[in-house]
Amino acid sequence: MIVGIDLGTTNSLIAYFTEEGPRIIPNRLGKNLTPSVVSVDEEGNVYVGETARERMSLYPETVAQTFKRSMGTDREYVLSGRKYRPEELSSLVLRSLKEDAETYLGEPVTEAVISVPAYFDDKRRKATKRAGELAGLKVERMISEPTAAAVAYGLYDKTRDTRFLVFDLGGGTFDVSILELYHNILEVRAVAGDNYLGGEDFTAVMAKLFLQKCDLSLGLLTEKEQVRLYKQAEKAKLSISDAEKVTVTCLIGEEEKEAVIGYREYETACGELLSKIREPVKKSLSDAGLKLAQIDEILLIGGATRLSIVRDFLIRLFRKFPDTKMNPDEAVALGAAIQGAMKERNEMVKEVILTDVCSFTLGTEVVVEYDEGKYEDGRFCPIIERNTVIPASHTERLYTIRDNQSRVRVRVLQGESRFARNNLFLGELDIDIPPAPKGEEAVDVTYTYDINSLLEVEVKVVSTGKSQKMIIKGQDNTMTDEEIAQRMEELAYLKVQPRDQEENRLVLLRAERMYEESLGDRRRKLDHFLNAFEGALRDGDDKRIRETREELLEILEEEEW
Ligand code: AMP
Repeated sequence: MIVGIDLGTTNSLIAYFTEEGPRIIPNRLGKNLTPSVVSVDEEGNVYVGETARERMSLYPETVAQTFKRSMGTDREYVLSGRKYRPEELSSLVLRSLKEDAETYLGEPVTEAVISVPAYFDDKRRKATKRAGELAGLKVERMISEPTAAAVAYGLYDKTRDTRFLVFDLGGGTFDVSILELYHNILEVRAVAGDNYLGGEDFTAVMAKLFLQKCDLSLGLLTEKEQVRLYKQAEKAKLSISDAEKVTVTCLIGEEEKEAVIGYREYETACGELLSKIREPVKKSLSDAGLKLAQIDEILLIGGATRLSIVRDFLIRLFRKFPDTKMNPDEAVALGAAIQGAMKERNEMVKEVILTDVCSFTLGTEVVVEYDEGKYEDGRFCPIIERNTVIPASHTERLYTIRDNQSRVRVRVLQGESRFARNNLFLGELDIDIPPAPKGEEAVDVTYTYDINSLLEVEVKVVSTGKSQKMIIKGQDNTMTDEEIAQRMEELAYLKVQPRDQEENRLVLLRAERMYEESLGDRRRKLDHFLNAFEGALRDGDDKRIRETREELLEILEEEEW
């Protein structure tokens, strides 16, 4: 079975294709969204999703989140004294999604189409693929998030050629993409974005307003208090769209602090974040050579587009109402599932040709003659430019710079800098050339980049027709099968928790956190019900477990905790 996965910064989702179309697969708790949060305790027990997030306030040193932001970097996260790379943490999320899907579907899930932000560079895409492999999933195809969204919105089914702008404001990343449907080909024309802008920044603004109003400073709060505050700020952010004001309360020290925050006040405080949205929109339009008025439809994806201050801002910016018929959280996973069906050539899905753009420039190092006989080396010569539609193939002719030069070395680089040293080195290729005066011999360097991010480099000597080829799957950072097996073995000490106890664990954690946050009678009441629930869990009597859990839950909800 092939599934579609949206591996998000804040939440992840998994979907599959059915006769009625794509469907989201609920997780073990019955929810569609699994928080992209991982926790590992001292004994190597792994918790993923809501349970891991709940552990954040009690055991912050065991929890990692927003690791998608560091995908493809060398950053390591320390959980209970052990180090993990971002793709390893992501693989634990993927593993959990895979398990949930297998239980739900009753069959093994072997392959996935995973979505990545259109703006992800090669390193980040490869890290994502590796995360899939570490989770035991074959990942042959990745789909960019805006393309997946457009596919889910059914836009590929349109009869008229259309231009779309996909506006994706998730938890931690912001992407704008311009897509064009032209003669049954859905093409991403341009992408732009900001890897450091998302819903969490809007939560941080809410928290900051609370601190200002209560005359507090973040630095003076304990780690637990900070976690608690962000939780409350998040809650307030979710409800402010339908209210004129919200009340944020938070236990700081022994005191319950409270602040009332108005809608307009919040909107003003978010002004700087909103203006950060403008730049990538402009950039994507200019890269695509389009004006705002030429955009036919605007699609919203990413949870943070639910914020009405964001929607209001967009209506003002675009002077148009966005299409909101899809659930912004689910569109990407559903699109990835449709792409999976297309890959399997499922006859229910119309064959559309999806293209993508290269989100970075691929080129080579050259020496430039800036004046007669004066050379400057170490320069970057772009061959396939950023935002070129892929699959793409481009050729650049390079001439010899010395008399009787016997060899040309093609260094393959990725990046936007004019200077080769600032770009990412992907590989190199040497070719011998016949002796001749400078400038008379030349090589044609052809880069062919395909939709699966494979780069083929061909260097051909013009005079002799002799050529050399190399395929770059990005040897940097790519793990061999043995390395994957070895790392999986190293991670084998991790004990994934049995699925069926997830709900109990979550209720226990919630109650324990509430216990820490309350005092007096509330605390005693909680203690009483917690003891009963724990007792039932120890005895292993299913009926009593269910009853005491319901009682405990009732208390938690009653007190609006
Ligand atoms: P995503 O990464 O697409 O799952 O987006 C998650 C972000 O969307 C988080 O920052 C959430 O706080 C935010 N979000 C989800 N639902 C809402 C909502 N109803 N109102 C405002 N923000 C939301």
